[in-house]
Amino acid sequence: MRRIAIIPGDGIGKEVVPEAVKVLEWANRRFGLQLRLDYFDWGADRYLRDQVSLPADALEMFRREYSAILAGAFGDPRITDNRHAGDILLGLRTGLDLYINLRPVKLLDERRSPLKGRSAREIDFVVFRENTEGPYARIGGQFKRGTGDEVAIQEDINTRRGVERIVVAAFEYARAHGRKCVTMADKSNVLTYGHELWQRAFREVATRYPDVEARHQYIDAMAMFFVTDPGRYDVIVTNNLFGDILTDLGAGLVGGLGLAASANIHPGSVSLFEPVHGSAPDIAGKGTANPMGAILSASMMLEFLDALTAAAEVEQAVAECLKADETTVELGGRLGTSGCGDAIVRRLAVR
Ligand code: ATP
Repeated sequence: MRRIAIIPGDGIGKEVVPEAVKVLEWANRRFGLQLRLDYFDWGADRYLRDQVSLPADALEMFRREYSAILAGAFGDPRITDNRHAGDILLGLRTGLDLYINLRPVKLLDERRSPLKGRSAREIDFVVFRENTEGPYARIGGQFKRGTGDEVAIQEDINTRRGVERIVVAAFEYARAHGRKCVTMADKSNVLTYGHELWQRAFREVATRYPDVEARHQYIDAMAMFFVTDPGRYDVIVTNNLFGDILTDLGAGLVGGLGLAASANIHPGSVSLFEPVHGSAPDIAGKGTANPMGAILSASMMLEFLDALTAAAEVEQAVAECLKADETTVELGGRLGTSGCGDAIVRRLAVR
């Protein structure tokens, strides 16, 4: 038996996670995976009620007892600094040392790309975003705050260990998945200290993978080529901040935030899967949110749990629904959140 933690969170997280759960339950039945799903009510309501964001024993419990975590989204207009969201999401990412943020950019339905005339084969790459360092390490401070002389410093942390392990993860993935090329994106022409470290680590790691081509590209050029020539990418590795921005652009290339999935991984240890989108307060509670990003995140979880056939079938079912316009309104479909989840499960049920 493997225990899976389910944390729907806030806003549309509460609406899309039940749809991803339907898919996990299908996989459980169909493949006898023996996944046991346990629910946690962490999020804005709980935080406002009793000031608990991420309980003190949560990390230890997950490390000891759980194989994976499925999370929805965290964010609520009532909590202006979004303190609880940072505590929960960044707390889990750093506390469980989930140093790989893996985000696929794969065009499942050619009609969904805003780029003209792109075939699905052309837009199919994965981004390895470093997930624990950079400016997200929250090291810095403010001086003379609120005065005309104020200073704000936000340090960009790049450790040799942190950089090397994400680069290794990208090459290992490329080798295991028959991908031919890893491209590292940085801004080493300007950030001559931090990103020079990335350059050296990348070159050194690359020598251990002679079967995989190693390329380098400046992040600004990469942003342009995402739009003009996305077919040139296979596996991308980059730092936390650039990866954050780049993968939203990637989501845009394949049909928008509603479709984008992600995994936060520590190889061999409990890992977290979540849609890329946030809590989307503007559409929360209406039953219109697209659950496909959450469902594709569940598919990534199944792959992580070695249920490879189940994972592939879920992705295939999502692709079929997209092609048949069995989608939510923002993609031109007529289904609500649960109707869209049901349509995907219906296609899985007849396999
Ligand atoms: P947060 O503060 O939690 O990040 P946000 O609203 O600022 O929330 P997102 O939730 O990531 O940011 O999304 C931005 C917009 O994209 C939303 O306001 C919503 O209109 C749209 N959107 C995001 N996710 C979905 C989805 N699953 N289905 C449909 N529309 C979505």
